[in-house]
Amino acid sequence: MKDQEQAVDGVNTGQAHSARVYDYIIGGKDHYQVDVEAGDAMCREWPALPVHMRANRAFMHRAGRYLAREAGIRQFLDIGTGLPTSPNLHEVVQDERPDSAIIYVDNDPIVLAHAEALLTSSPDGHTAYVNADMRDPDAIIDSPAFQELLDLDKPVGLMVIGILHFILPPEDHTLVQQLLDPLPSGSYLAMSIGTADFAPAEVGRVASEYERRGMPMCLRTREQAEAFFDGLELVEPGLQQVHKWRPTADQPPLDDRDIAMYGAVALKR
Ligand code: SAH
Repeated sequence: MKDQEQAVDGVNTGQAHSARVYDYIIGGKDHYQVDVEAGDAMCREWPALPVHMRANRAFMHRAGRYLAREAGIRQFLDIGTGLPTSPNLHEVVQDERPDSAIIYVDNDPIVLAHAEALLTSSPDGHTAYVNADMRDPDAIIDSPAFQELLDLDKPVGLMVIGILHFILPPEDHTLVQQLLDPLPSGSYLAMSIGTADFAPAEVGRVASEYERRGMPMCLRTREQAEAFFDGLELVEPGLQQVHKWRPTADQPPLDDRDIAMYGAVALKR
């Protein structure tokens, strides 16, 4: 944990932030006292929160690996990257295909401050960081990284993992669509979507904690989650709780009530 005096420019150390609370709960080191207090309060409301967050991170790894290995994707746009906790997306996909290009996007100044730690591409590939808000897709699409690094004649993997619960209706569907629109046919959307379907009381209390601390959150039913993939072709096994999406053979058994996240990967025809 950092002292307040070490605060990076533009970082509000007086208010908890989603990226830092996540970092604290998954065992990282880039967070402040307010984030520890927020994280502890959330874990009191729902002790499974760390299990849930690690399952989301593991889904990101499996979805990224699937896209690199089985779908042949070599360029990725990762929205809501979070603090660099190894392995990051580029480490997973460049392990499969060293010449992959990854554009990371986040709007948190502390993630920006750690961006260098993300830009450790393999010599054959590329990584870039864009400091932008998902609610302003044009800023992402018009960024030099997007314009120069992506070859839009080739498919792209759009990753929207662990962020959609901070993207509120009514713009949520349009914002995802605006990011998909410039991507060619053959591209994929990999997304995880927060839900209270499996532990409504506990997860509802966590959402209230986030909201009370200035981070309003939208949780979605299975039906609402599925609607984000309308017009796309879901890859097997379709929309599942994240721990049930192509689990690895060595994955320890998890209780469905502990996982408040749907995940899916879908093809843009
Ligand atoms: N994708 C990573 C990190 C998820 S944490 C993973 O799944 O492991 C959520 C991240 O989304 C945080 O880093 C937060 O700063 C970022 N975020 C939240 N709202 C955002 C917005 N409107 N635009 C861009 N990033 C946002």
